[in-house]
Amino acid sequence: MNRVYNFSAGPAILPEEVLKKAAEEMLNYGESGQSVMEMSHRSKEYEAIINACEKSLREVMSIPDNYKVLFLQGGASSQFAMIPLNLMNKSGKADYVLTGQWAKKAYSEGKRYGECKAVASSEDKTFSYIPKLDRSEFTPDADYFHICLNNTIFGTRFTDLPDTGNVPLIADVSSCILSEPIDISKFGAIYAGAQKNMGPAGLTVVIIREDLIGNARESTPTMFNYQIHAENGSLYNTPPTYGIYILGLVLDWIKDKGGLESMKAYNEKKAAILYGYLDRSKTFKATVEGKDRSLMNIPFITGDKDLDAKFVSEAKAAGFINLKGHRSVGGMRASVYNAMPIEGVEKLVEFMSNF
Ligand SMILES: *Cc1c(COP(=O)(O)O)cnc(C)c1O
Repeated sequence: MNRVYNFSAGPAILPEEVLKKAAEEMLNYGESGQSVMEMSHRSKEYEAIINACEKSLREVMSIPDNYKVLFLQGGASSQFAMIPLNLMNKSGKADYVLTGQWAKKAYSEGKRYGECKAVASSEDKTFSYIPKLDRSEFTPDADYFHICLNNTIFGTRFTDLPDTGNVPLIADVSSCILSEPIDISKFGAIYAGAQKNMGPAGLTVVIIREDLIGNARESTPTMFNYQIHAENGSLYNTPPTYGIYILGLVLDWIKDKGGLESMKAYNEKKAAILYGYLDRSKTFKATVEGKDRSLMNIPFITGDKDLDAKFVSEAKAAGFINLKGHRSVGGMRASVYNAMPIEGVEKLVEFMSNF
């Protein structure tokens, strides 16, 4: 069987080496005589897996000691509520930058808990750029300032972080985590659903500065309280055990490849091939310009809906799948996460040139 080139935005492609290793260990992990899926999350074997995963994540991402790593469930979408429930606890105010559908969803959810301000938006041009931020618009006593670092649907990313002073910067990094180094110390917290660049759906990773934990509002559900998970090493209840195991394998793979600096160089090379082609092509055109272009999610159009549909369907038949753009934007989108090999992008460009 031939594997396809999967350009899905998520759940997304995983490194073949990781899938093979998981297959090898499927029936019998180590000497345990069982699959990781069948293991008690309180067993010695599993404890070693979750601890190794956290250690690898800390190493790969250079996570400072004063940050907790939490392995949760509920997706990035649950964080849209967990962030305000846990952090909106002094002024009851927060700032949001609206750069796409996920940022807007985070903002709408935040508004259920306090006074949220949209300090900038790029909705006027279908979120095709990162808006300029004016510090005088920022709420000085906000409990946090929220951004979506990479906008999965619209294909933009922040290359400069807003200077929020003492207000903790919170970022949804679902579609760019592990794609390049992130200076964690610039953030109060970052969070990500695993299914883009880390592993299977079902695992959500939160990396949060310790001093921001422990002030959740009284009515916060126990399972939504960071403190509960921090105090219990993400084992308050059953964590997504298999997802954590796969993330561990993905992190080993990243270490083997030379870490996040290598990932960044590889991702820049892949993105340059596709953007380079889009900028030269007479048939296709990128929807985002300049430095706001995402390295991970690359939307493009022909300008003709029927031609877009024809392209998506012919590409699929040729083994390039999930190139259809998000239903809210149309056109095409190639998600080129870490695990997408450079050959996948080269062959896609060749296919596009022949289309
Ligand atoms: C996919 C995605 C989400 C939603 O993630 P779920 O895990 O499905 O809740 C949120 N934010 C961004 C940036 C995403 O890419």
